[in-house]
Amino acid sequence: MKRPFLTLEQAREIRKSYPTPFHIYDEKGIRATARSLNSAFGWNPGFREYFAVKATPTPGILKILKQEGCGVDCSSLTELMMAQKCGFSGREIMFSSNETPAEEFRLADQLGAIINLDDLTHVDFLRETLGHVPETICCRYNPGGTFTLGESKEGFQVMDNPGQAKYGMTRPQLTQAYTRLKELGAKEFGLHAFLASNTISNEYYPALARILFETAVELSRETGCHITFINLSGGVGIPYRPEQSANDIAVIGQGVRKAYEDILVPAGMDDVAIFTELGRFMLAPNGHLVTTAVHEKHIYKEYIGVDACAANLMRPAIYGAYHHITVLGKEDAPCDHVYDVVGSLCENSDKFAIDRPLPKIEMGDILVIHDTGAHGFSMGYNYNGKLRSAELLLKEDGSVALMRRAETPEDYFATLVW
Ligand SMILES: *Cc1c(COP(=O)(O)O)cnc(C)c1O
Repeated sequence: MKRPFLTLEQAREIRKSYPTPFHIYDEKGIRATARSLNSAFGWNPGFREYFAVKATPTPGILKILKQEGCGVDCSSLTELMMAQKCGFSGREIMFSSNETPAEEFRLADQLGAIINLDDLTHVDFLRETLGHVPETICCRYNPGGTFTLGESKEGFQVMDNPGQAKYGMTRPQLTQAYTRLKELGAKEFGLHAFLASNTISNEYYPALARILFETAVELSRETGCHITFINLSGGVGIPYRPEQSANDIAVIGQGVRKAYEDILVPAGMDDVAIFTELGRFMLAPNGHLVTTAVHEKHIYKEYIGVDACAANLMRPAIYGAYHHITVLGKEDAPCDHVYDVVGSLCENSDKFAIDRPLPKIEMGDILVIHDTGAHGFSMGYNYNGKLRSAELLLKEDGSVALMRRAETPEDYFATLVW
């Protein structure tokens, strides 16, 4: 059963200073997650998590992760600027972008970030842009086809479609890219791939690691390049549904270690560092969207209208994604009502839940929408003139800090030419 990290009493107290809707994050949970990841990969001396900034681009969060030893994975100009302002520099920054504008490569290079090239043509684009190629460089691999794991009667445990994805280089292009980069002066090489998203399987990272380790051994033999790190990227998922079970990061770490000992160590590549770029796994369960029930409507279905909408969390509207909902104070009440929980956008997809069994909801009840800590606030938008909410931090001592204030109409109007 999913339990919120917030009680009704806490939420009522917070609502006095910060009206709903707001996103709130659990510092204790974030630190615990970062520590469990670092400990799962503690066997690898060079291990580092580069938190995927796009999942939660909030300085208050990035600074906590920095204290836990994480770097950041950026994919745009403003993410690089935010990383710099938060005190990240040099090899603490990974720059994994695609269709990259020249000015972004320039800033990444100035910051000393590790640049992860998405395409073969970017090798010469980078050299023309910078006048050189960095000594340390990474290339993104796309093996094509479909990627599947764990076939059973119910289907595959993991299935995704690299062959349909716009990212990364083909296998022959990797050889060309490494060869060319070496000619241009690169000395230290990394290899990266992202093959499946939100995987609920302890096998995903180990399977990906085997592919990347074998490819790294081949590339090192073919090109003589010194490969010093393998970046397993993101994709380790979380159980959004209460009946799903969570990944065990310690088991995942040991699975990658086994692949490392089977493939890299015998090839004499036992100095390779493992990097990750997890976003969802690090933050999603450690964030809630908190909202108040403001209207009820009884037509062909039973509706509960809340003060949050898809502009605060768009995953249900665009992916039909499930997000669990708890009515605070009614955690143990029977779920004997069935509701559509909806926001106020003039869009019928603005539904946080459809036909969801929940306890009876009264107007003024506070609802927690779970697992919104990653790809939640950050995907928000201003459709219907809706304003972005505040982001709060529930600190380890139980106090609450403001990390980002709510937008005001002035913010919304600020870019307009009247
Ligand atoms: C989005 C992204 C991530 C993070 O993905 P999660 O699913 O949140 O783990 C990591 N690396 C790259 C390059 C990405 O685009």
